Amino acid sequence: MEKTKKSTKRLATAKELNRVVTEFYLECHQAKAEGKPVGWMPPMNGAIELFYAMDLQPVFPENWSPVCAAFGLTPANFEVAEGMGYSQDLCGYLRNIVGFVHGMMGGDQVPLGGLPEPDLLVYASGGCIPAMKIFQIMEHRFPNAKVFRGDLPQVALEHIQPHHVEYAVHQMKQLIEFLTETTGRKLDYDRLADVVRLSDESCALWDEICTYRRHVPTPISAAEIGIMFVLVTRQGTQIAVDFLTKVRDELKERAENGVGIIEDERLRLFWDNIPLWYNMGLFNYFEKMGAVVVAETYSAAWSIRMDTSDPLKALAMKTLKSYPLVSCVSVETRKEMVLKACREYKIDGALLHSNKSCVPITLGQADIKRALEEELDIPSVVIDADHMDDRNFSPAQFQTRVDAFMEMLLEKKGLL
Ligand code: SF4
Repeated sequence: MEKTKKSTKRLATAKELNRVVTEFYLECHQAKAEGKPVGWMPPMNGAIELFYAMDLQPVFPENWSPVCAAFGLTPANFEVAEGMGYSQDLCGYLRNIVGFVHGMMGGDQVPLGGLPEPDLLVYASGGCIPAMKIFQIMEHRFPNAKVFRGDLPQVALEHIQPHHVEYAVHQMKQLIEFLTETTGRKLDYDRLADVVRLSDESCALWDEICTYRRHVPTPISAAEIGIMFVLVTRQGTQIAVDFLTKVRDELKERAENGVGIIEDERLRLFWDNIPLWYNMGLFNYFEKMGAVVVAETYSAAWSIRMDTSDPLKALAMKTLKSYPLVSCVSVETRKEMVLKACREYKIDGALLHSNKSCVPITLGQADIKRALEEELDIPSVVIDADHMDDRNFSPAQFQTRVDAFMEMLLEKKGLL
């Protein structure tokens, strides 16, 4: 088994992914060349919709990291970051982007042209610490960029109160003021309402796409999950809505005709934690025993439905909710989320990715493992790895554990 491998994609829409990704980065570079202000920001916050509504270009350094992993650039980026003193224990997203901006960025050989330099850096407190630290480091690396540091409470999903939302709305207003002053562009509130409506439409489509994964056999597997790229980068655009509509239509047709993503579905698996971005082919590995990963913790978190009647409040809520949805949530809530998904997607077994450089999402897996067994009689296996760093992944150990696990599941179902 190889340490790094691309997934095999079978959906026609998933095969379009290269084009979708390339077009986004081309657009980012074109924006820079045309003098449109480029702003770097974390994913999943209300600033994305504000940027699209104000005709500014958002860029997501955290999400550039999976792209680097897919292109095999991470070892070089890690070497630079670790040479600067960043520990191997730190989040792989952080180490990769730090290494990238201090190393190969701007070079001729960087796939997709790399990232255009930021004119603006927009981030907020609250959420995962490495995600914030990335931007503090970027402030030093790009001293000419104008910086907006939002102030948001670190509040768990289930503890968000009206005063938190009110405070976040105030922060959104300050961000609008900052963007107006620094770029000279005014926000058209009718345009913002359209963008928020499109953003919500994308989330509704994503929810619908996820419901097709409940079908037996499933018409889509985790190997195709890169399609969520548009949810990360294009929230609030017609491009995202059109692409997800195509995905939805393809899945609907497959589901209605009983066409599974693999020929003979025998086991349905759940993946907890972030995928191994350098080895998405791992999701095809299970197919040799008729197993398919039908749901993950990570992908469900990219849909945040919004109350479109109040766009600013909707964006404030989205910003408050985004990180807590996966990483800053109590162990109890995370456990309930996994149990719910395992029930809804008719899961036979769970793969718990113990992610060395992402502690927040790994925390609580022992409790989740116990609850799956005791409450749902669903066995699980722990996969020791890392979402970005293949040095923390042993294919041999993976194969031994997973093969034995799948045999046990088949036997449990009376299929062996
Ligand atoms: S949640 Fe995990 S992967 Fe995301 S920024 Fe935090 S440590 Fe990194």
